[in-house]
Parts: sequence; C-alpha cells; structure tokens
Amino acid sequence: MPEGHTIHRLARDLNLAFEGSQIQASSPQGRFDAGASKLDGQVCDGFEAFGKHLVGHFAASDVLHVHLGLIGKFRKAKGDPVGAVRLRLATNDVNWDLRGPMVCDLGNPDLVDKVAASIGPDPLRPDIPGAVPQVDTFVAAMKRRRIAIGAALLDQKIIAGIGNVYRAELLFICGIDPQTPANSLDESELRFLWDLAAKQLRLGEKLDRIVTVDPKLGAYKTPGSIPAGERLYTYKREEQPCRVCDTPIELLEVAARKMWRCPVCQQTGATTAAKKAAVKKGTTV
Ligand SMILES: [Zn+2]
Repeated sequence: MPEGHTIHRLARDLNLAFEGSQIQASSPQGRFDAGASKLDGQVCDGFEAFGKHLVGHFAASDVLHVHLGLIGKFRKAKGDPVGAVRLRLATNDVNWDLRGPMVCDLGNPDLVDKVAASIGPDPLRPDIPGAVPQVDTFVAAMKRRRIAIGAALLDQKIIAGIGNVYRAELLFICGIDPQTPANSLDESELRFLWDLAAKQLRLGEKLDRIVTVDPKLGAYKTPGSIPAGERLYTYKREEQPCRVCDTPIELLEVAARKMWRCPVCQQTGATTAAKKAAVKKGTTV
C-alpha cells in the first residue's frame, strides 16, 4: 500500500499537471461516468493530501476524493486508456489515469472536512495556526494507548501516512522494540519519533521512494544515490545482517502484519547501543 509520502508527492505532481488548467475528465471503464462528466471542462484549483487520502479541488466547488487502497494507482499515461481506468484527467499535453482505487468519490466542500476529520495528525501537513500543534496531538494519542508502538504507528487516527515500511524503519532508527507499549515511551522519545517521521516522509516525498539508510553507512554522497537493496534498515531483510551491528534481522508479526527488527539495536536502552556501534563504524544513526 502506498504510504503518505506517495500521496503527497502525487498531489504535487498533479498540481504541476493540472492546477489552474481546464481539464478533460472521463471514466473509460464507466464506473465513474457521473463524476467524470461533472468534472469535465472545469478548472482544477489544486490537489492536496491528507495522510493517504488525495483531495482535488475544482472550480464549481466539486471535490474529488481518492484513496488508492492496496492496489490503486494514479499515473501519467500516454495514448488511449488501456484496461480498467476509473478516471482519466487530461489536458492537451498530459493524461493521468486512475486505476483500482479503494475510494473515488465526488462531493461538495464538506467532503474536505470529512476527510480531514477521518485521520489523525499528518507530519507532512503544516500545523493549523491557532490549533494544537500536531506533535502534541500525536504525543497525547500515544500516551492513551497500551497497544504495541508497532501497531499504534499503523493507526491513521494516531499518525496519518505511516505504513508497513516506515513503521519498521522509524522504530529501527529510534532503537525501539516494536512490541513496546505505546504509552510506556516517554515524551521526548515520542517527540523524536514524530520529528523523525516528518523528516523521513519529506525525504520520501522528494525522492519519490523510501530511503531511510544514512548514506554515510555505505559511503554514498546522498540518500538518492543509494542503490536499490541498500535503502532500508530492516524492512523485508529477515536473516540478513543488521547494517549497524551485523546481528541477523528478525521477522515478527505486529498488528497482524509482518514486522522486522534488529534484536540488538531495538531493545530498551538500545538507542545508545546502536549509536555507539555506529560511531565505532564511523557512521551515524
Ligand atoms: Zn543492529
């Protein structure tokens, strides 16, 4: 499933293609005929992301809501639409095809509030002036939960945009065992986790892929130059050596989904151990 960085990046790319332009809309597959014909010919006022939800604004106060779900894709396309395209948005220069979304809905501006209210704080969205800072909402929500931190990070009401890859990677970098009860973490750990999530999601949005490994670990200059297969610390790396301490990465299950961890770097007090090991290796965590 795409994580939050993908949807924020998608909003940015769709804005480059359509914001301020009159668009052509169609539903080649036919399942979104009514919605597409309402959008056809309208000026697009821009897209934005709320966690894993994409929202498009149109001149006649129509709001498009898309959630890609597990298999959905919204991609630039050339030529005539092929296969089950739910929605094609186009100008004379470019086409974008939406396939297999879990949600593709059209509504009025109330729909934006509904989407925003359906999720918790999103580290890729700015704080709303005058409202409680998002990090405070996040910390308070974590403090109320006794479930494993690895499970809490997947709860979109606690933090929006984290999926299975980022939860494994963030907890590795923080040196936290994924089975630690969320409310047993102290406030400084939770604030660090929030800031790290924001930093990592922003990098993912910029690169359009998830890269969490510190480039210095492999003597690379930038995160973008790290080759595939070396970009992540633990995700799908069971039995392979930890990039910091060489201990084999373990596979476990948290919140009914696969989870990975280093049994040495991710235990109580391990943040220090991982940092020491990294310093020994001449790298930083
Ligand atoms: Zn390790």
